Amino acid sequence: MTRKRSRVDKDLVNILARLYKDPIVSNEQKIEDKIKEFSLPPEVSWQKEIANQPLYVFRHEGLGDIGRLTIFQNGKDSQLMFEVIGDEDDPMTDQRKAIFGPISRNMSDFMESVFGRGTAALKPFETPHQGQPFMGERIMCSKCDTTVAFLVYAPPDATEATLQDYARMGFAKGKEFDVPAWVISEESMSVVVNNQEIPRLLTLKVFPERETTKPMLANELDDILCPLVEYHCRRGS
Ligand SMILES: [Zn+2]
Repeated sequence: MTRKRSRVDKDLVNILARLYKDPIVSNEQKIEDKIKEFSLPPEVSWQKEIANQPLYVFRHEGLGDIGRLTIFQNGKDSQLMFEVIGDEDDPMTDQRKAIFGPISRNMSDFMESVFGRGTAALKPFETPHQGQPFMGERIMCSKCDTTVAFLVYAPPDATEATLQDYARMGFAKGKEFDVPAWVISEESMSVVVNNQEIPRLLTLKVFPERETTKPMLANELDDILCPLVEYHCRRGS
């Protein structure tokens, strides 16, 4: 197995941009105090990330990271950008949006009531990339080295939310290579089949269709992956 560090390049959908009076240079702490004051649903929390401008990541206890708020200076105003985290084609992005969309609008209205609406024109802004590295593996055709499947390795202590983060990354990678993608857990508890110890793992197919989490024996996963590797170059010949 060749596990490599992988990254997802573009994983954000812009949903709301607004302007407030008061430039960020003099106002960052005040804005942050207001974010603290804003009451979020109990299952959502936020965390400030290190970046060139204020950047806040919102996390749902069941869905993992759902959205971000970035603030930057736009003339005499502050521009707030709300983004949903995830690929726009990922059906789970709609679920993240269903939760983060109303939070974005309410938080934005709340800020507007405090600071007043800005008058500058909205500026397009490339928000900072913040790809968490994760362990992944490209399964290649043994003849032509084309990628035929992608595996994302979830850490052994993955919570439901962490698993959803990895599923999001698996979707992006499956889409990037246009191959089936799975999130798999570390192999754990062996099962004895025909006097042979076979490791058991949890698998979650995330691309092209999303399935539910399934326990599998390691050889059952091989039974799915091997034909993809073996028959890639033989197809149609
Ligand atoms: Zn091939």
